[in-house]
Amino acid sequence: PLLFDRLEAQPADSLIALIALAEADPRPTKIDVGVGVYRDSDGNTPILRAVKKAERILEQVQTTKSYIGSQGDARFTQLIGEIVFGPNHDPNIVGLQTPGGCGALRIGADLIARAGGDIRIFVGQPTWPNHAPLIGTAGVPMVDYRYYDRATHRIDFDAMMESLKGARRGDVVLLHGCCHNPTGADLDADQWRAIADLVAARGLIPFVDLAYQGLGNGLEPDAAGTRLVVQAAEQALVAQSCDKNFGIYRERTGNLFIKASSPAQAEVAFGNLIGLARTMWSMPPDHGAAVARIVLEDPDLRADWHAELTDMCARIRRIRARLAAADPRLAYIGGEHGMFSMLPLTPDQVIGLRASHGIYMAPSGRFNVVGLSDDSVDRFAAAVLEAMD
Ligand code: PMP
Repeated sequence: PLLFDRLEAQPADSLIALIALAEADPRPTKIDVGVGVYRDSDGNTPILRAVKKAERILEQVQTTKSYIGSQGDARFTQLIGEIVFGPNHDPNIVGLQTPGGCGALRIGADLIARAGGDIRIFVGQPTWPNHAPLIGTAGVPMVDYRYYDRATHRIDFDAMMESLKGARRGDVVLLHGCCHNPTGADLDADQWRAIADLVAARGLIPFVDLAYQGLGNGLEPDAAGTRLVVQAAEQALVAQSCDKNFGIYRERTGNLFIKASSPAQAEVAFGNLIGLARTMWSMPPDHGAAVARIVLEDPDLRADWHAELTDMCARIRRIRARLAAADPRLAYIGGEHGMFSMLPLTPDQVIGLRASHGIYMAPSGRFNVVGLSDDSVDRFAAAVLEAMD
């Protein structure tokens, strides 16, 4: 065998396959709740008004496409840092622009791997399916902790805390900052406080994945848990994405932030991140960051972005409330946050819904609440309840 003969065929990405299946379904009543992007009530994933205007401005003011450097757009990173951590945040927090939240998670995992072989990362179950491949490729050993109980639709907080008590000083804990994917079950304020206390007492390092800030309860409340654990910890990492809250998914726009123990240490860590970036993407794609910076620097565009984000968040909450009101068995959906929720369906029941009703969702029972329109919520609820009987 030469080179490519040695490779094994890979399973197709099931969610991407699902999108294709849904598109090919001719039934006008079909419902696609598989895809993981925001949709408006017409089923579109719109370009936000402020983003469109900022793109026009960029087209006018940009005079060069020359290289920008491995850090990316530092002003963009600074503006996002203020949204994540608040103005006047800890000066030992530094960040660099990354290709989306994926790039941030990957470079964060690489930094952990580079720091030392015995550091482990504790990962809640279930979690976003790309977490393990991103972290595993970097070579950081993973320890699972139980996060969510499918039977009760609640966070199994006792089990989570019990697992985390097995973490050693310097171990990393992966946490979803808000809008947990795939469950929608977010830690409440008391639970965040308990984790912050544990992190501080044991010298653990939070690694917060903040991919949906603004789509749960709003920009500020969605950052509260992240701020709490980062403040409590001596050192921390935050993988941030603008891809959902600016609706610029394909522009691959995010940041990795780290909190170090001292300015000197922050500088060393930052230097390592720059070195790692050079070995992967050299420098991040500019367009999304430039657009987000223009939006954030212009008070009118910023206000309009905020208004549209607030509308998106309100739509998510409205569909959740409608589902919760449809039946007591769906009531838990009303108390969750973000676009995703899990239905207590078996893979066979999920396939059954596809065949009988043209409802497309992941085999795990995860569905995107804004895949539903005001017209399809009741139909969806009725079909799901029938399948659950
Ligand atoms: N973290 C979570 C929990 C996500 O759901 C996603 C995207 N689906 C990401 C990170 C990565 O986001 P991005 O598209 O910005 O890479």
